Amino acid sequence: MSVTDQAFVTLASNDIYCQGALVLGQSLRNHGTSRKLAVLVTEQVSHGIRTVLSRVFDEVIEVSSLDSADLEHLALMRRPELGVTFTKLQCWTLTQYSKCVFMDADTLVLCNVDELFDRDELSAAPDSGWPDCFNSGVFVFRPSMETYAHLLQFAVEHGSFDGGDQGLLNGFFSDWATTDISKHLPFIYNLSISSLYTYSPAFRQFGTDSKVVHFLGSSKPWHCKYNPQTRTVTEGGSPSGHQHLIFTTLWWEIYTSSVLPLLTGLEEIADTE
Ligand code: UDP
Ligand code: MN
Repeated sequence: MSVTDQAFVTLASNDIYCQGALVLGQSLRNHGTSRKLAVLVTEQVSHGIRTVLSRVFDEVIEVSSLDSADLEHLALMRRPELGVTFTKLQCWTLTQYSKCVFMDADTLVLCNVDELFDRDELSAAPDSGWPDCFNSGVFVFRPSMETYAHLLQFAVEHGSFDGGDQGLLNGFFSDWATTDISKHLPFIYNLSISSLYTYSPAFRQFGTDSKVVHFLGSSKPWHCKYNPQTRTVTEGGSPSGHQHLIFTTLWWEIYTSSVLPLLTGLEEIADTE
């Protein structure tokens, strides 16, 4: 059964993050999601990559980045630090859908996670660095122009305490930690890769049920080198630890088997990161 008014949504503001979006989209397809897949791109994303995205995603939607010149953006221009944050907020404008799950382009699903749509706005998993805040790499939301307008207003008035979307969204949905436990997604829906070594006994106990891996932080799977012959990650991105290596290798397996074939024939991927 396919559900046409609900979607997984991700974001890629350049061709490099599109590699992550493609692996995420492909992982959702591989696990037979019944929901639509949508990707938000900005003007920097090349035409070739957009064509490839449209083979994995049902919708490739261009959104504006902070330098566009209309009024609401001008208000935000006073807060230039909110660049990518502002871009992410535009997921609330996808009112063709009644409910969505946003997923960062550096996440990967390990199984079908369609049950996330049973949750309501704003559901998210705790952040491993400060568990009274939610991590904004995976969250359930309801597109609404009204909420979008309120978010923009909040951004202009209060900014973001961490300079990014997570600080802003935690400021806006500030009762997440205390009001409704059903809005706390289990950590296995947004397993941050650093938790594998900061709390390895917990990972050994609960990690076998992991559903979504999040390559949070500065070293992303696409920074690593991968040898397709030996199927091993060889260098770069400093993946430390056995389990991190396993997840990074899984990312590369999806990339080489399902994404690379779609990319053949394209010009060199523009390095615009
Ligand atoms: N993002 C993007 N371009 C950028 C930086 C971020 O498109 O230059 C998007 C992408 O979807 C990414 C998300 O914003 O997954 C959040 O950034 P990131 O995952 O790098 O932050 P982290 O999860 O490591 O804090
Ligand atoms: Mn992320």
